[in-house]
Amino acid sequence: MTYVKGLKCRECGRTYPKAPQFVCEWCFGPLEVVYDYEKIKKNFTKKALENRAPNMWRYRELLPIDGDPVCGHTSGFTPLVEAKNLAEVLRIKKCYIKDDSVNHPTLSFKDRVVAVALSKAKEFGFKTVACASTGNLANSVAAHSRYSGFDCYVFVPYDLETSKILSSLIYGVNLVAVEGNYDEVNRLCAEIAMNFPWAFVNVNIRPYYAEGSKTYGFEIAEQLGFRAPKNIVIPAASGSLVTKIYKGLIEFYQLGLISEFKTKFFIAQAEGCAPIVNAFKENSNIIKPVKPKTIAKSIAIGNPADGVYALEIVKKTGGYAEAVTDEEIIEGIKLLAETEGIFTETAGGVTVAVAKKLIEKGIIPREEEVVISITGNGLKTQEAVQNHLKPVIRIKPSLEDFKNHIKGGV
Ligand SMILES: *Cc1c(COP(=O)(O)O)cnc(C)c1O
Ligand SMILES: [Zn+2]
Repeated sequence: MTYVKGLKCRECGRTYPKAPQFVCEWCFGPLEVVYDYEKIKKNFTKKALENRAPNMWRYRELLPIDGDPVCGHTSGFTPLVEAKNLAEVLRIKKCYIKDDSVNHPTLSFKDRVVAVALSKAKEFGFKTVACASTGNLANSVAAHSRYSGFDCYVFVPYDLETSKILSSLIYGVNLVAVEGNYDEVNRLCAEIAMNFPWAFVNVNIRPYYAEGSKTYGFEIAEQLGFRAPKNIVIPAASGSLVTKIYKGLIEFYQLGLISEFKTKFFIAQAEGCAPIVNAFKENSNIIKPVKPKTIAKSIAIGNPADGVYALEIVKKTGGYAEAVTDEEIIEGIKLLAETEGIFTETAGGVTVAVAKKLIEKGIIPREEEVVISITGNGLKTQEAVQNHLKPVIRIKPSLEDFKNHIKGGV
């Protein structure tokens, strides 16, 4: 059963049939999936959702595949946690954490996009899947490729965290470490995609892949009792997640699942890689590429593909874009762990720290609610916090020695 009409250029509006194609042949604008909402309306209702399994495929009609999904049956429907302790520290009325640090199977929101991309790659008849990645995407493509029976090549910058490398290698896939930053990896992959008959999830399959991110937004609305939040803070790498949460809320509104909403969108980036924030603060519509230098490697994209569209949404919704230093990122990771018992990676540290900064500046009002988007797990970026934690209390196996150490004022 398909609900997809085809692809459409975001810039000039030309339409294309469903194919593994990502740019407009006419104007080089990015292509976007177009749905038949009238048809979707008939099957996709609040009532229908009640009986569906708690995973991302409960939103099947709004995802761009024609048949049954080949993977992702354990992905999505992660907790929306009411973070009372964090709200108290931040001195804000209500704070929610949308927690994809526990998304399955690879502990980041990338499992949502990859499940869609590989299901689509199967429909297109590809045998090999690949990606350009800052780490989490590679982990997810690697894991899902095993379950759904693809050969797999993942391309990453050579200087990633140990755990991000290992979490791809464990699946026995081909990991290529490129001596360059993500933007160079991405450029290389665009070339490889033209020379090899592979499904590059974020190159030639990108229009389909990106749609998976909408489920993050659908879930927030559903978990809030079918309404959109007042404020949401989202980390941005390519900017895709920001645009798709927005698209997801618009679709829920069009289908009558939520009423009109006034959600303000806030973008979070690291100071060492903040091209979207820079453009926002310079009040410019042009995103100037930067050379990334930050511990938040998973969101270190200097030339963001969807940057202009993400920026547009921030401006249109009355939001804001803010960046934080590496030190603030580490403080952000620790703050979330110490208040809510959630261990996020560096990207999550960025989001928490930016939310804190925006509340302190009065840009997110204290009498309102905020949703903080946590997109990855801290076990994958342990290097970032390693030297910033309390020392271990090491003792002899005796009560006396323990008492001595406690007296020492630990
Ligand atoms: C990829 C990624 C993002 C941002 O993704 P975009 O959609 O490219 O902006 C955010 N957080 C984590 C942990 C990621 O891996
Ligand atoms: Zn076009």
